[in-house]
Amino acid sequence: MSFQTIYGQERAIRLLQNGLRSGNYSHAYIFQGPPGTGKRRAAMAFAKALLCEQQLEDSCGTCIECRRVDNYNHTAIQTITPDGTTIKIEQIRELQKQFAYRNTSTSAVQLYIIEEAERMSISAANSLLKFLEEPNSRVVAILITHNGQALLPTIRSRAQSVPFVPLAPRQMAPLLIQEGFPSALVQAAVQLTAGIEAAKELIQVNWFAEIRNVMIQLAKESTGDIHSALLTVQQKLTKSELADHLDTLLDLFVLWFKDMVLVQSDRKERIVFIDQQEYVMKIAFSRELSEWVSCMQKAMEARNRIRAHVNAQLALDSFLVSMERR
Ligand SMILES: [Zn+2]
Repeated sequence: MSFQTIYGQERAIRLLQNGLRSGNYSHAYIFQGPPGTGKRRAAMAFAKALLCEQQLEDSCGTCIECRRVDNYNHTAIQTITPDGTTIKIEQIRELQKQFAYRNTSTSAVQLYIIEEAERMSISAANSLLKFLEEPNSRVVAILITHNGQALLPTIRSRAQSVPFVPLAPRQMAPLLIQEGFPSALVQAAVQLTAGIEAAKELIQVNWFAEIRNVMIQLAKESTGDIHSALLTVQQKLTKSELADHLDTLLDLFVLWFKDMVLVQSDRKERIVFIDQQEYVMKIAFSRELSEWVSCMQKAMEARNRIRAHVNAQLALDSFLVSMERR
């Protein structure tokens, strides 16, 4: 783990390295940005560089401190994650107790990382605030969140904000393909996520490849015999574990119709369903451009209805029926 393994977040890393270089780093940071943009990795890379014996702007990777961080057994780093749905005041108290004991530790600095910091209960946040108000020059706090606005303003004003930015699909795709992930899955995943880590996670869950296949099957069936499409919904979607991911199914439908638009606009090199290129090329001109755009809108509407917890099978069925040619 080092800053070199974090891609596309130059501004965040520059901010952190400025502090390391000058020794004038902040004692509280808020790492904020969309899920999967590398905030957690950056927190560990920063912690490692701070603890590293070499005291450079990145960790050396070979000293004993660096090796202890890599083995996840460095006692100078504490991590807090939500206990159930929230971070509770007991967790913050326990943390403060740990730091009180370890004040005699030989490490130059100690760090604590709070993941999903927006999930702190009000009492936990107030307890943390007191901790931040008595600055200890040897303690560094890193709060990780995808929603900095959800943190107390009093916490925000005491911490330096480190922004993590969403990455564009074209930035992510080549890297993931180079790492050996199947390109058909990569092209879809980078459209649905904002960061490398999030894209990797999506590619690696079992249901993603599966739901992508079902979506392609449904798209093909619904242009022919609508009844077989409705049967597929019943057999493969509503009663399986895929039922939890119908919003992703519809996101994929949006990308499918967008591919048709891309082919019609002579930009076929940008299509997402690269393994279906032949089929996409064949049917792209079977409808007017405006019809494909309206299909995209219908898919988005159905996705929003499912997210709003409308009966999923109903929403999906009426979406597929609305795709039928009149
Ligand atoms: Zn080192």
